[in-house]
Amino acid sequence: MVLERGEVANSWRRERWDSLRLLTPNWQSRLPGLRYDGLEPDGYMTMGEVTELIERFAKASGAPVRTGVNVASVRNVGDGYLVTTSHGEISAQAVVIASGACNQPAVPPLREAVPASVEQLTPFGYRDPAQLPDGGVLVVGASATGVQLAAEIRRSGRPVTLSVGEHVRLPRTYRGRDVLWWMDASGVWDQRYDELEDLTRARRLPSPQLVGTPERATLDLNALTSMGVELVGRWAMVRDGSALLSGGLRNMFSLADLKLERLLNTFDEWAQTEGRDAEVGPAERFAPTRAPDSSRLQIDLRSGEIRSVVWATGFRPDYGWLDVPVADAKGQLRHEGGVVESPGLYALGLPVLRRRRSSFICGIEDDAREVIDHLTRYLAGRR
Ligand SMILES: Cc1cc2nc3c(=O)[nH]c(=O)nc-3n(C[C@H](O)[C@H](O)[C@H](O)COP(=O)(O)OP(=O)(O)OC[C@H]3O[C@@H](n4cnc5c(N)ncnc54)[C@H](O)[C@@H]3O)c2cc1C
Repeated sequence: MVLERGEVANSWRRERWDSLRLLTPNWQSRLPGLRYDGLEPDGYMTMGEVTELIERFAKASGAPVRTGVNVASVRNVGDGYLVTTSHGEISAQAVVIASGACNQPAVPPLREAVPASVEQLTPFGYRDPAQLPDGGVLVVGASATGVQLAAEIRRSGRPVTLSVGEHVRLPRTYRGRDVLWWMDASGVWDQRYDELEDLTRARRLPSPQLVGTPERATLDLNALTSMGVELVGRWAMVRDGSALLSGGLRNMFSLADLKLERLLNTFDEWAQTEGRDAEVGPAERFAPTRAPDSSRLQIDLRSGEIRSVVWATGFRPDYGWLDVPVADAKGQLRHEGGVVESPGLYALGLPVLRRRRSSFICGIEDDAREVIDHLTRYLAGRR
């Protein structure tokens, strides 16, 4: 059975902001046996459309979903598991943890040192710019969430400062195709967890600077600078009510530009080797990220310039209900391609679980097949 504390597609219904669209194109948002058949294969779904897609899949697949059932604990009992839910206890020989990788916003402890006069929000509480007080906004984090919120808040007329740490720069389209088409076609997204040089790093990689809009616009740091967003370095600490920011923006930008260049080279080589050059546009290269002449190293949070801080510093899973000691000190599950250390315990939907695409909608099909194959053999072995 499938237990869900809320409704089907709960995270898409409850934990996203209003304007969000998928950053993966429609044709790519495929689930087993369910392919996009609408009129806009190159568009990006709104949250309502994603919810509809997942509801449709739940019905079509006949998955035995029980909604409104919260799992309060999972414990090892004998050679199986005791699952305590809001609706009673269940014994299970095997449990698949599919509770998501983004259950909570990951906010650094320095939030506690921010003066009380500054309002603080996370992407879970943020719905639209109208919710923010008038005045300056400091958005922290320049990955997919941060760049999208910085742009939206800037368009509302508020001055926006964006604190930029390590980031992944991507153009929306490359050689006439969506950049995620290239990730897909060239096999980059299919790179397997056991073939990656540094799996830990790959699993911690921030999300790419992408947004899904009808215009298929690129939303990199240059685009934000052109909109009037001020870029500052990583927020390191708060001292005497001031945010202290790292310097070295230029180095950070060069690194992201270099990685983008390498990725584009990989795409170009693939297109040439596979004889696909003729079906795509000519190779492109993008202007380097423009660094401000001098970026501020300090912002006085008591001066009234910044009225709110939006933490776009990532998300993390919540395993507070899992009473099996399989999480590491950082709260991440210890597993080998979804096979958790405790026999009969499995995981799905985590970053680079078995391949680079694992935590995207289009990544679940192949991962699930392989993980469930292991689970089936495990159950057969018990018999
Ligand atoms: C802001 C944001 C944007 C994203 N954009 C994209 C995108 O454009 N394209 C894409 O492919 N992917 C995107 N993703 C990734 C997306 O989260 C995954 O593709 C997908 O949602 C993973 O599905 P899941 O079922 O593994 O996890 P989730 O969607 O998180 O679902 C987990 C479910 O488990 C339930 N649950 C958790 N704990 C318990 C419990 N104790 N008891 C009972 N139920 C519980 C939750 O209510 C939830 O419904 C985005 C993620 C975020 C955060």
